[in-house]
Amino acid sequence: MDARHCQLCGSPTEAAAIEGRERRRCTTCGWVQWLNPAAAAAGLVLLERRVLLVRRAIAPCHGMWALPAGFQEIDEPAAQAVEREVREECGIVVSVEALHDLVWVPEGHRPANVAVYRCKPLTFDLHPGPDVLDAAWFELDELPAELAFSNGPRILWPLRDADAGGRGAGL
Ligand SMILES: [Zn+2]
Repeated sequence: MDARHCQLCGSPTEAAAIEGRERRRCTTCGWVQWLNPAAAAAGLVLLERRVLLVRRAIAPCHGMWALPAGFQEIDEPAAQAVEREVREECGIVVSVEALHDLVWVPEGHRPANVAVYRCKPLTFDLHPGPDVLDAAWFELDELPAELAFSNGPRILWPLRDADAGGRGAGL
């Protein structure tokens, strides 16, 4: 991740103590490499008691089921990114309803803040895109045993358990 050469002038960089930690600084023009987390967005797409998941085709968590998600483009708001990612990965159109959570994801080569949006599906027939292994609707009570990142404990299990409690009370 460390830049060995300046991104402005191409000169070599050197280690320098700047604002409390070691960073790379250009030996010629003084450019500093500030490393910041990336920004990503994930879709919590619910259809009654079912949730939309994709099987990841890339590391980290290759082969595991996860919420459809991806990095924001530089000029793209998070809510727009999630509608695009769901369309690309699952082939359906969704509209964002509300921000559900903001999750810190340190795994992988680009640590990220992931904005998780609750989305309403407007179309339903899944057409998994080339960047996922599969896409499918899962009943909240029949989630895959292995879920990527903190998708299970942080997002889906509380949803499942709250939902189960609600149904129990109605019986
Ligand atoms: Zn430079």
